[in-house]
Amino acid sequence: MGGVCAAAGSCKPRRGGYPETVAAKKHLLAVLVVVVVAALVVVGVTPLGVSPPAPERSAADGFSAGRAMQHLREIAAAPRPIGSGGAARARDVIAAELDALHLAPHVQTASAVSSQSGRVAGTVRNVVARLPGRDPSRAVLLVAHYDSVPVAAGAADDAGGVVTLLETARALASGPRPRNDVIFLFTDGEERGLLGARAFLREDPWAYGVGVVLNFDSPGSSSPALMYETSPGNGLLVRELVAGAPHPYTSSLMYEVSRRLPIESDFRPFVAAGVPGMSFGALDGPAYDHTAYDSLESFHAGSLQHEGDTALALARRFGDLDLWDLHREDVVYFDVVDGFAVVYGRGLVLPLAALAAALFAVAVAVAGRRRLLSLRGFSLAVPATATVLGVALLVMALVWGMYRTAYEQRTWSETGVVISDFYRLGLVLLAAAAIVASYELLLRRLRPWDLAVAALLWWLIGAVAVAVIVPGASYLLTWPLAAASLGLLGAVLLGDRALHSVAGVVVTLAGAAPGVVLMSSATYLLLMSAGLKQVVTVLAVWLVAGLLVIPLEVVRRGSRLWLPVALAGVGFVVLMAVGSTVAFDTEHPRFTSIYYRVDESGAARWQTVDRIDDWTGQFLQEELRPFHDAYFPQMGVRSTIVGAAPQVRLAAPVIEVLRDTTMGDRRTVRLRLRSARDAQVVSLLVHSVVGGLTASVEGLPLQGWDTTILDGTTVRWWFDYYAPPPAGVVVTLRFATGPAVLLRAVDFSYGIPPQLAGQYDGRPPGMLPGRIGDGTLVESTLRLPAVPATASSATR
Ligand SMILES: [Zn+2]
Repeated sequence: MGGVCAAAGSCKPRRGGYPETVAAKKHLLAVLVVVVVAALVVVGVTPLGVSPPAPERSAADGFSAGRAMQHLREIAAAPRPIGSGGAARARDVIAAELDALHLAPHVQTASAVSSQSGRVAGTVRNVVARLPGRDPSRAVLLVAHYDSVPVAAGAADDAGGVVTLLETARALASGPRPRNDVIFLFTDGEERGLLGARAFLREDPWAYGVGVVLNFDSPGSSSPALMYETSPGNGLLVRELVAGAPHPYTSSLMYEVSRRLPIESDFRPFVAAGVPGMSFGALDGPAYDHTAYDSLESFHAGSLQHEGDTALALARRFGDLDLWDLHREDVVYFDVVDGFAVVYGRGLVLPLAALAAALFAVAVAVAGRRRLLSLRGFSLAVPATATVLGVALLVMALVWGMYRTAYEQRTWSETGVVISDFYRLGLVLLAAAAIVASYELLLRRLRPWDLAVAALLWWLIGAVAVAVIVPGASYLLTWPLAAASLGLLGAVLLGDRALHSVAGVVVTLAGAAPGVVLMSSATYLLLMSAGLKQVVTVLAVWLVAGLLVIPLEVVRRGSRLWLPVALAGVGFVVLMAVGSTVAFDTEHPRFTSIYYRVDESGAARWQTVDRIDDWTGQFLQEELRPFHDAYFPQMGVRSTIVGAAPQVRLAAPVIEVLRDTTMGDRRTVRLRLRSARDAQVVSLLVHSVVGGLTASVEGLPLQGWDTTILDGTTVRWWFDYYAPPPAGVVVTLRFATGPAVLLRAVDFSYGIPPQLAGQYDGRPPGMLPGRIGDGTLVESTLRLPAVPATASSATR
């Protein structure tokens, strides 16, 4: 600059007063800032490098995704819900492969009740095999579930985990034996409430000797396998992962998030039983999970190679470790670059936060001494920076509202797949535009130094709060705050020169870099996993912008409103482009299902819980009417549209009273519940008001009667039993004596009756089965007579 800036005053450039070279330099600096920040964001959101899939003919003692893909193609050929033919075929493939490896697999058949609802039960068939060790301490257990949801081939969830175990078993069996036994557990019924893992823990004697559990289960399909969950006291586990896995990909932020989310995975029952361990899986592409999109076509072999490399390395590592006590202090951990992760004890969290706070205080003190800050400016800047967040949230809510209105006809949840990476990108760009524009306006009134310090103050408040409340996520704020404070100190030492010199840009960008990278990476992980999409995105962009106030001032001097306008423009174009793809077509199909139901009178009906469309319309042609009380396993009582259907002879489910006793005012009814046509699910519904109902199936207590599950009309309580044996299951109901009680049995089989399927067209392109898929339901009822209270016991 030509002249001398007024002391402590503004160093405002005179508009148009610069020679051309200076103007060109300003533009260049502005471009430099934008390019560097964009590059840092890209570094943050790019998952760590993974090896390409190893071919089928690679080293025998290594993990080959090429070999594993052969099994995957067999297993993920069809959906495998518990009790289905697909599940039986997958079980055979797994057992045959384990047999070929001479691992003597056995199938554990047992009843189990779901952990979460307590009203879902089933007979599971787990496949279990054991590779004996040289000198075992306790066993390493690798687990993956071979069942899938009814509508998905479940390539990622969880055939990928299954073949990871199979290929790991092969590699371990062909190399030198580990010291410890390695158990391979392929669970059934995971998707219906972790039934297989619960049955294994409760009944299989091998469960007692397990020293560590490694669970492989992916909700996504395309990213490397993230270690997203650990047991408490994870210090040793994480250090083994970081030291042993070729490409450790993990973050203690995910540990904090996952343990607060109601994530259902086979890992949970093991942790509840006190077994230490970790969970791995790809998270990217979550819109695919539990839909027909989770198929061979969407599966990534690169993801499988990464998961397999990790599984094999850890099986070997824990295979040679003394597994008697793996419990250590919890640690903070995150990966920085490929193969390098930072791990430190929770004990360092508060000292590090204090250190960052001290650096911030030094920067502020020096800025104060150099008269770069003013009390008035700073006291305005603190609320002003908070307002920026409010503005961004408001803009986001408006955009979201407009977007929703524009595309309302195409139900959002059903086309969730299109709301993927590009939608998120559009959102981030718009949030950034709103925030940068707000800062641009603020920088016209307030000095950049006041704003920069105020923005960092929010980081400080956040860093202290997170260090205390969510220590595993503390790295996300502590390290960026420390670095940004150093950057600020450097800029302060340069004084107002920092606002238009290369040195100023370099020093502040260097200080902001850790924050930009870590925040981008965390936002990416949270968008993949948690449901807090909008708010998390806006908050992260706002925090990152707070690190960039000085560089923003540099950009502003070079380009005025150019940056926010460009960000908003690109953001809108991206969102419009995403919007134009929101339609039902082959890539984004409509989920639509049809049900064939025979009620207790023997009358047959077609039913749908979806709208009548081109496909369901061929079934639903005559005598259409709404029907409100149709029971479906998993979906509960639903409103449906019913229409006349041709009659097919299907045997009704049977409720047989084995014993009905009364003691005082308590009545105990033991009954056998079975499907007479080998359906995959049989449900029992209580249609009457009964007092103090408790129930059990096969001796296992069922829960859920205290929560009033009512549709407002008839059903008081129900439970579902998956994969019932042909002889049925024994259910015991206990309740207060009183009036007659109406029981209903409903059995459910996948698909419509084969006799009818041929008479109708298959789904056209652009339509796929949703939720529980198509199905056949047959009902029967039984009335238990009224029983008065008795003085003594009585049996009828
Ligand atoms: Zn799963």
